[in-house]
Amino acid sequence: MAGEKLYEGKAKIIYTTDDPAVLLTYFKDDATAFNAQKRGQIADKGKINCAISTYLFQRLESAGIATHWLETVSDREMRVKALSIIPLEVVVRNVAAGSLCRQTGLPLGQVLLPPLVEFYYKNDDMGDPLLTPDRMRVMNVATDEQIATLRRQAEQINHILTKFFASCAITLVDFKLEFGLDHQQTIVLGDEISPDTCRLWDQATEDETQRVMDKDRFRQDLGQVEQAYQRVLERVMAQSPQH
Ligand code: C5P
Repeated sequence: MAGEKLYEGKAKIIYTTDDPAVLLTYFKDDATAFNAQKRGQIADKGKINCAISTYLFQRLESAGIATHWLETVSDREMRVKALSIIPLEVVVRNVAAGSLCRQTGLPLGQVLLPPLVEFYYKNDDMGDPLLTPDRMRVMNVATDEQIATLRRQAEQINHILTKFFASCAITLVDFKLEFGLDHQQTIVLGDEISPDTCRLWDQATEDETQRVMDKDRFRQDLGQVEQAYQRVLERVMAQSPQH
């Protein structure tokens, strides 16, 4: 089924298929943090992230968001639409954490209303720098119209996912999205949505360590990483796809 290896990233491998409009994404157990300065493995992460992403992409599709997801063909592989990737990481923040706290001094846990939508340049060598609209314009990474569409879609996705995770008793603190263009130049959501790309806090506890259900457990050596990912999967799967 898989053809040639097209690209190997930190968490996934992309293969060609016999259809040029379709690629195969393989989810690895490899974990990296701090621009790959910290490396490790999280047992079964690939399977868990493939399952969570599958569920969330389907949910977004049924809410009218165009995603690259076509079909999940094994416990680590999904067939996706081939997109020309827009080199931006679109981050939505509902609660202050991570680099926002480090760069602004805002206290961890401060609620952000309205949520922040930020654009980072997807470039490992440069350390994925934060961009401004003017910088995006001068760099030609996306047109003003595309940037407005990305922002609107990120806000819509945030609305859907925040409500969904709340129904799982999880706070969606922040998350990263990547988008691409299909052959008709339509903006389509790509990549994955998983505990690797979201900050997720368990609403059952206010303890700053215990509540963490995402890759911060790996980044900060909090332990119980696999168990946290597994708990996210269980809560997601407990929700009926119709809700
Ligand atoms: O590190 P920072 O606080 O900017 O991350 C914001 C959100 O984006 C977090 O949920 C993080 O997991 C995600 N992210 C990501 N990939 C990156 C950078 C951030 O998934 N390269």
